[in-house]
Amino acid sequence: MKVLGKLAIASLVAASFSTAPVLAAEQQFVTIGTGGVTGVYYPTGGAICRLVNKGRKEHGVRCSVESTGGSVYNINTIRGGELDMGVAQSDWQFHAYNGSGKQAFIDAGPFKELRAVFSVHPEPISIVARKDANIKTIDDLVNKRVNIGNPGSGTEATWNVVWGAMGKTNGDLKLASQMKSSETPGALCDNKIDAFFWLVGNPAALNKEATTTCEANFVAVKGPAVDKLVAKYPFYGTTVIPGGMYRGNPDDVPTFGVLATFVSSTATSADTIYAVVKAVFDNFEAFKKLHPAFAHLNEKDMISKGISAPLHDGAVRYYKERGWM
Ligand code: GLU
Repeated sequence: MKVLGKLAIASLVAASFSTAPVLAAEQQFVTIGTGGVTGVYYPTGGAICRLVNKGRKEHGVRCSVESTGGSVYNINTIRGGELDMGVAQSDWQFHAYNGSGKQAFIDAGPFKELRAVFSVHPEPISIVARKDANIKTIDDLVNKRVNIGNPGSGTEATWNVVWGAMGKTNGDLKLASQMKSSETPGALCDNKIDAFFWLVGNPAALNKEATTTCEANFVAVKGPAVDKLVAKYPFYGTTVIPGGMYRGNPDDVPTFGVLATFVSSTATSADTIYAVVKAVFDNFEAFKKLHPAFAHLNEKDMISKGISAPLHDGAVRYYKERGWM
């Protein structure tokens, strides 16, 4: 009896000592992989984390962002278990889930644990060229010096798809450079490259920097190969770079693009994703004001368009509560 009593006391003491670690374990951390600092992913991730962290005392989730190489890096790092969430182009969300689109995704096989959370802004292909390089359409890039996107970006992966669909290889360029996005306006204006290619929301700091620092024009992304791609894949859509948005570019320039999406995996808890989703949609009007690229977002599109992987359980829980599903 005595012994049992002692044990009971001992376990009570152990339990009270263990409350500290238990509380600490309740605090959850979520790290969101984004993109280059002058893109739109990075400020988007920052905006979402600020909303999440405001409610930290209630839900116990602490959010931080990482600047990364972009979509493909984010997906691969979520797959490796080192990121909880990330931003990814809708085309690479589709291809990662299905194990298609690029050799590394085919070799890795379908990423069945990948989960969509919601989509955000459109990301048209932006090709910005030096005016003196006289590049008007994507076909004019032949024999030019072009930054095709850094390794790990969705940009580089989509470049390979588009340029390949046009029957071309990087050997058709004078130079295929892979600088990170933040370095490209400087390289363009210093005449180290003739053009840079990337997929990004508008307005983007990097496009602004290039068009205000030197004379630069947006290039039309059109032609039979583009028409075929857009007709074949549900995640592509035609759009324009709006005239008047950037200095020296008064007219709409035709192009096509994808959507930016937030992704995660089944390894991230439903409670964590629920807290992130709730922070965004409970404060939706405030969220939309956090970046001009969000001005036209609406809840219905964000949970349906650009979603090819199953929605995360934590997201579904919130969308059902709101009666959206
Ligand atoms: N879509 C780009 C990529 O994954 C990143 C755009 C951004 O940083 O806003 O390559």
